[in-house]
Amino acid sequence: MDRDSERCSLCRNWRPHIFYPVLGYCTVKGRLTFDDDWCESFMRISYDEERFYWCLTCRMRLTSQEAREHASKGHKVYLSGYIDPDVREEIYDAF
Ligand SMILES: [Zn+2]
Repeated sequence: MDRDSERCSLCRNWRPHIFYPVLGYCTVKGRLTFDDDWCESFMRISYDEERFYWCLTCRMRLTSQEAREHASKGHKVYLSGYIDPDVREEIYDAF
C-alpha cells in the first residue's frame, strides 16, 4: 500500500472542513479524520461524474467540467465541503 497516494485528502468519500481543511468528514466512517489519514475504503476521487463538486481553494461549487479545470490548475476539488454543525452559528456570524 502506498499511504501517500491513498490519503483521505485524495479520497472521494472525504469532505474537507471548509475552515479547518486539515480535518474532514469521512462518509464511510461517519467521523472526522485528518487529511493524511488512510483506510482500506479509499476510493480515488475522479471528476468524471455528472454532479456538482466543491473547490476548497476557491470555496465555490463547480460543475464536473469546472471541477476538472480547477483540479488541473492544482486546486483541491472535492465532492463537497463539510461544516461542523456545532460551529454553524459561529460561521454565520463570521459572514
Ligand atoms: Zn478552484
